[in-house]
Amino acid sequence: MNTIVQLSYFLAAVLFILGLKGMSSPRTARKGIVWAGAGMVVATIATFFHPEIHGFGNYVLIVIAIAVAGGLAWYSGKKVPMTDMPQMVALYNGMGGGAAAAIAAVELFRALGRVGLDTQAQAQQLADQAGITLKAAEAAVSAEGGVTTSLGSAIGGDVAILGLLGALIGTVAFSGSLVAWAKLDGRLKRNSLVPGQQVVNIVVFAAAVIFGIWSFYTGSALVLLIFFLLGLLFGVLMAVPIGGADMPVVISLFNALTGLAVAFEGYVLGNPAMIIAGTVVGSAGSLLTQLMAKAMNRPLSNVLFSGFGTGASTSEEGPEGEMKEVQAEDAGIMMAYANQVIIVPGYGMAVAQAQHKIWELVELLQDRDVTVKFAIHPVAGRMPGHMNVLLAEAGVPYDMIYDMEEINAEFERTDVAVVIGANDVVNPAAKTDESSPIYGMPILNVDEAENVIVIKRGRGTGFSGVENKLFYADNCSMVFGDGQKVAGALVQTVKTL
Ligand code: NAP
Repeated sequence: MNTIVQLSYFLAAVLFILGLKGMSSPRTARKGIVWAGAGMVVATIATFFHPEIHGFGNYVLIVIAIAVAGGLAWYSGKKVPMTDMPQMVALYNGMGGGAAAAIAAVELFRALGRVGLDTQAQAQQLADQAGITLKAAEAAVSAEGGVTTSLGSAIGGDVAILGLLGALIGTVAFSGSLVAWAKLDGRLKRNSLVPGQQVVNIVVFAAAVIFGIWSFYTGSALVLLIFFLLGLLFGVLMAVPIGGADMPVVISLFNALTGLAVAFEGYVLGNPAMIIAGTVVGSAGSLLTQLMAKAMNRPLSNVLFSGFGTGASTSEEGPEGEMKEVQAEDAGIMMAYANQVIIVPGYGMAVAQAQHKIWELVELLQDRDVTVKFAIHPVAGRMPGHMNVLLAEAGVPYDMIYDMEEINAEFERTDVAVVIGANDVVNPAAKTDESSPIYGMPILNVDEAENVIVIKRGRGTGFSGVENKLFYADNCSMVFGDGQKVAGALVQTVKTL
């Protein structure tokens, strides 16, 4: 039976990797999710047949856990609006880190129970816990060296080290992700660095490491408990000062940490599916973190330690000049008679759910021989790939969608750039104003187009809270209103021409 279980875990790992491969392109992403989901089903079913799981009570517990967690995930997954997706990702990620930390807690505290016992008592305990014969347990205990005096000797040096590392990373990812969730959900507002906070963070982290090492060499449950609590505290302290604009990068980092913690705990449990899945998540998360930090032109160290994105240095005064307001009809005429139009969607398009109307508008423009392209900034919206998902949902072909690097040089040859619900990702302050918190972030060069039309509800700032001079530029016209309504009005206008 064990061979079948191990083969199933291997199959699950292969499915996870295929799933991840599928998710690397919008065309195959849906299939990728299904593959990865199938892998999870295989791994879960295999666990029921694992030789170490025994006793009716344990099966009942597993079924209850699956029913409750699966039910909640199903319900919340169905209900969550697209705009709240980042919070959900943060929350689920936190659960992954928490689960890894919980596994570490169970295994490490259980091993502590064997510290100081004589060989016979240890063997009896091992036999009860693992459901193996007393003889096999005795052999295992004497192979590990008889009477144990510390966590390290009770569970084995390598297992203890990886278990402790996984516990530290898992607790940090758990509490840090919960703080990220609370911030993205608007439940926690404080996000500035208090003086000396970095020193406190370093002290807490160092203390956690010291208690971890101490746990390894002692059999004290109190030391181990303090180690876990310090990990949780460090996660909170690490995430609290990080500002909203940096949250996506941080969530991605916690995601990578969760993967790593799962992989370490997989080693502790001797579970290859967990090791492979955790490593895959860890490396994919690390790459994503790097890519996002690069897209915001911010080294990761700066994201984590500078308190950027807190909005602290946002200018109080708005830019000089007036915004030029035009009606949707005028904007529609401008687009209909253009040679090339580039559409730049942002978070507001998601809020307004305007993607379907925008696609209808694009089809009408194409019928008039206008060349239309979509330009996507890597951090537009509120999660990686947010805009791609919305456009795919509306049926926009992939070959009309361009990444920032591919399209930025084209704006200067474009008649009309249409910005719908985007703000930070087109803010020229990122290029010109060294005092701006978003300075250095690469942006879409819409300001270089001959005409810019911006569709938004009012004078609200974007996610970073920074004013946008683009809206005051001579070549820029504002169409105020909800994205979907304005897109609808544009469709009507173009139809009548
Ligand atoms: P943004 O800077 O947040 O601006 C969105 C704009 O949409 C707002 O100025 C708002 O102005 C407008 N808006 C809101 N509701 C609207 C509606 N119903 N109809 C029309 N307009 C509406 O968005 P962005 O340019 O996409 O930039 C993304 C920002 O989010 C970046 O700062 C990025 O770092 C951050 N972020 C990204 C991620 C990610 O992974 N992509 C995750 C978290 C945070 P009005 O209020 O005036 O309408």
